[in-house]
Amino acid sequence: MVSTPAPTVAVIGAGIAGLACASRLAAAGMTPVVFDKSRGLGGRIATRRGPDGLTFDHGAQFATARGPAFSAYMRGAVAGGAAADWDLPDATRGERRYVGTPGMSSLVRPLAEGLEIRGQHTLTKIERTQDGWQLAFALVGETMVADRVALCLPAPQVAALTQDFPQAAAALASVDIAPCWAVMIAFEDPPLPGTLPDAGPQAGGPIAWMATEGTKPARDAGPARLVLHASPGWSRANLERPAEDAARLLLDALKGLSKGPLPAISHVAAHRWRYAKTQVPLGRPFLDIADGMLLAGGDWCLGARVECGFDSGVSLADRILRDIG
Ligand SMILES: Cc1cc2nc3c(=O)[nH]c(=O)nc-3n(C[C@H](O)[C@H](O)[C@H](O)COP(=O)(O)OP(=O)(O)OC[C@H]3O[C@@H](n4cnc5c(N)ncnc54)[C@H](O)[C@@H]3O)c2cc1C
Repeated sequence: MVSTPAPTVAVIGAGIAGLACASRLAAAGMTPVVFDKSRGLGGRIATRRGPDGLTFDHGAQFATARGPAFSAYMRGAVAGGAAADWDLPDATRGERRYVGTPGMSSLVRPLAEGLEIRGQHTLTKIERTQDGWQLAFALVGETMVADRVALCLPAPQVAALTQDFPQAAAALASVDIAPCWAVMIAFEDPPLPGTLPDAGPQAGGPIAWMATEGTKPARDAGPARLVLHASPGWSRANLERPAEDAARLLLDALKGLSKGPLPAISHVAAHRWRYAKTQVPLGRPFLDIADGMLLAGGDWCLGARVECGFDSGVSLADRILRDIG
């Protein structure tokens, strides 16, 4: 008897959606290949290393788990040491907040186990051929033919790659994702108690969120470090500014919030998240672009949280498995 080889599935994006999708496919006996433009894993669940090895979680700050699938995943991640509870007192709803340990990006580590992941592969073109989907990657100049493709990227990046599929364009254009400027600051000495507002959401003004890295579990001691996130409105209005300008303006805003002089700053850097937080989601767990053979997913399908990315990736994998049986 001649056995049919399992179809090749290329998953583009090693954020939580892509990794959840690939992990689900692998658990069902498939061997997906994951590609990401960057070297690391996690996408917007990110940990940046500054000078002297200082780490900053400059993307997602924490994850909450509301549904059974992601709750089970997070319980496993905590049990395995990839995540822990962050006990952050603030006025928001009393949900458990999880952070990756020792940095946010570790939160996706359990999903990546055993997967074939190729970093520094930026997908630049998808073409349908007789043999399947021809994928072209920049930097490495590689191509690959896959039977099915799961694009686990923010909606505008999916749109740029799928211009030959006008039927997907309207759905993708209906999604709105706000940008976010993030600023990472290290102080030479800790700010005096009471100088800065409490970590957490900040009302009004350009700064929407402030976190003190040292309040998170399992972080290395090191100097006092802050991460600031600008509000969606401020980030949109200042999106094309050079990073140094954005850092300076947000530092000025921080000084305006502080109740006394701040200690000397030893490091400051800004990062522009062009697609950060979904404002208007697609409203279904994934987008089928070409008969289950080319699909797109990510948090933007369902909302603005880590769990939305996870749920989208799992649903996308289930759609593929439904066909393959
Ligand atoms: C500043 C900020 C703060 C946030 N705070 C929180 C929070 O506190 N709590 C919360 O729940 N959520 C938060 N979020 C949202 C959360 O980070 C996202 O919901 C989630 O990480 C999205 O995962 P994803 O896999 O859908 O997309 P991403 O994480 O964006 O993954 C997409 C991946 O695709 C890769 N990629 C893109 N284009 C290509 C290409 N052409 N070829 C190959 N690879 C490509 C990218 O490198 C990336 O790794 C925050 C996001 C930001 C930016």
